[in-house]
Amino acid sequence: MKTANKTVSAERLVKDALEKAKFFADYHIFNFLNEEGALKKAREIDAKIKKGEKVGRLAGVPYALKDNFLSPEGETTASAHILQGFKSPITATAVAKLEAEGAIMIGRANLDAFAHGSSTENSYFGPTSNAFDKTRVAGGSSGGSAVAVALDIVEFATGTDTGGSIRQPASFNGVYGFKPTFGTISRYGVVAMASSTDCIGFFTKTPEDMDLLMSITSGQDSKDLTTLPDYYNDNTGAGSGDSGASSLAPVVTGLASSIAPVVANAPKSPDSCARIGIIKDFDNDSVNPEIRQALKKKCDDLKKKGHKIVELSMPNLKYALAAYYIIVPAEVASNLSRYDGIRYGFRSDKSKDLDALYNNTRNEGFMPENKRRIMIGNFVLSSGFYDAYFLKAAKARTLIIKEYEAAFKKCDFILTPVSPNLAFKIGEKVDDPVSMYLEDVMSVPLNLAGIPGLTVPAGKSKEGLPVGLQLIGPRRSDKSLIEFAKELR
Ligand code: GLN
Repeated sequence: MKTANKTVSAERLVKDALEKAKFFADYHIFNFLNEEGALKKAREIDAKIKKGEKVGRLAGVPYALKDNFLSPEGETTASAHILQGFKSPITATAVAKLEAEGAIMIGRANLDAFAHGSSTENSYFGPTSNAFDKTRVAGGSSGGSAVAVALDIVEFATGTDTGGSIRQPASFNGVYGFKPTFGTISRYGVVAMASSTDCIGFFTKTPEDMDLLMSITSGQDSKDLTTLPDYYNDNTGAGSGDSGASSLAPVVTGLASSIAPVVANAPKSPDSCARIGIIKDFDNDSVNPEIRQALKKKCDDLKKKGHKIVELSMPNLKYALAAYYIIVPAEVASNLSRYDGIRYGFRSDKSKDLDALYNNTRNEGFMPENKRRIMIGNFVLSSGFYDAYFLKAAKARTLIIKEYEAAFKKCDFILTPVSPNLAFKIGEKVDDPVSMYLEDVMSVPLNLAGIPGLTVPAGKSKEGLPVGLQLIGPRRSDKSLIEFAKELR
């Protein structure tokens, strides 16, 4: 990562990033450009460098902030009309940690409103274009963040991943995208989507940069009771899943036991031979042949390097998508109930009384996909339907967690596609929610199980579109997983 120093100023780095952001304006990457704020911070860092004072590990590094992270710079909109006009009084813990190391936010990146989606087409501000083909989607929901890194506007970008929103756009744009173990990075100050699966993570150009960002932002936060002790930076050997720490399981609404940390089975060292699991249930005609080919090629490369390929049968993963699209809308419906036109952002002025104010604000302020999830969520939680839907989904979730635990007894990491397709055309799936949801079939199981996954670039298709693969590890294997990604280059 290029940081500011005596020869290259932070002001230069920030100005270059802002210029590039403007050059690519028609890709709709940013909802807001932080020109004044970013330049002011850059000059402060330059002044410190000039005086020979100590600067942070990210001194002057320009980055893109997904527009669902709260900070006082600009409005935090989550790309939703209902949050327009909302200026946050607080700063997200992850943002505070990055900025304490000298990183400079140059803009707020576009997303599917409230992070609901797999294409960034559900944004109130319009879709973001793919970095490699303007007529195709960026992926989602963190589409703006992925494209900002892929087009080299910034060194890194933040993302949130509830069911694939970092890994899938990373794969569509040929960059690294990491969803850590649930509870690794504080979610304080991030707009909540589904509290039992939401994770903070990053987009970078290298595994080394990912490691640096993880070591800066990981750790327990008293403002987020689901955070784990800082196993990522723990060099005592207890780091990769010490059993002692399992008593500090994340506290999550009624699901704590099902997503409690387990002992990770990480490889001894990245140089030693690793066992890589391949899920044979995913090797079928519903997956694009070029993605299957890329996976096969990576396996051959790994074998040549002395690693072992292990075939896994994971039949319960087929329940993941259905379980996800019950559990997540249920949590979404609860988390979105706070947007009532009184406390945050937009308020409809058509209303004659209080009930109408709530109704009109929510009706005008949410996108159709947000409303669909609120409806489904309240339905699956309603009396009479809870047992048939929510409870069953929670049970399926436990089966999935157990299936991964069994798999990680046979292998150290698992390698799969990120999604069944390459970047699709803008407009192609937008009116067909089920085909959009099917994009998430390989990414959501990780969120249900709370385990980490890293998108690694794996070449290009014949048409020149990036192909990505997903490296998956047991809970708290994050550090060794990122280290192992270097083997896949
Ligand atoms: N595409 C998935 C969904 O729509 C994941 C979204 C996310 O990870 N925020 O729910």
